[in-house]
Amino acid sequence: MKKITAVYPGTFDPVTYGHLDIIQRASSLFDKVIVAVALNTSKKPLFTEGEREDMLKHVTAKYKNVVVDEFKGLLVDYAKKKNATVIIRGLRALSDFEYEFQMSLTNRKLQPDVNTIFLMPNEKYTYLNSSLVRELAAFKADVSGFVPEYVRKKLSVKLKSL
Ligand code: ADP
Repeated sequence: MKKITAVYPGTFDPVTYGHLDIIQRASSLFDKVIVAVALNTSKKPLFTEGEREDMLKHVTAKYKNVVVDEFKGLLVDYAKKKNATVIIRGLRALSDFEYEFQMSLTNRKLQPDVNTIFLMPNEKYTYLNSSLVRELAAFKADVSGFVPEYVRKKLSVKLKSL
């Protein structure tokens, strides 16, 4: 039987319960899920690639069909290299739609065999993103409802070192 590999790309700076909600859904839908940290975004991340990958590995360890990796360059080239036919993206609100729609159609033009599938998180995570978590943590707010304990500790250490 055909095995389907999906790639879930993102910055994950840091991974939140919103990302984990999507990872859990993808893990139950596909044979293998590669959570891929994008190394070439225009964003200036708080955490290094290694730190972001370490946090992702730690919080996804219980999902046996989930692996963490990184990629540079075009996402569709990376997907092809990994024999992945699905790209996963999370859709939180209408505001995500325009950019995601453009990206998914562009990726399909570049690589027609790869389809983007959008997953919606539990509604309690629809307002959540990594930059909100970074900002709250910088003001020493309690972020334990937004990120796993391991990530909360890494945030606190990181922000102290700045
Ligand atoms: P990117 O720079 O690619 O947007 P992010 O780490 O911000 O990287 O997000 C990666 C993916 O996870 C995107 O598809 C984004 O929409 C999705 N995502 C981020 N936060 C949430 C959330 N709270 N609920 C569902 N999906 C989310």
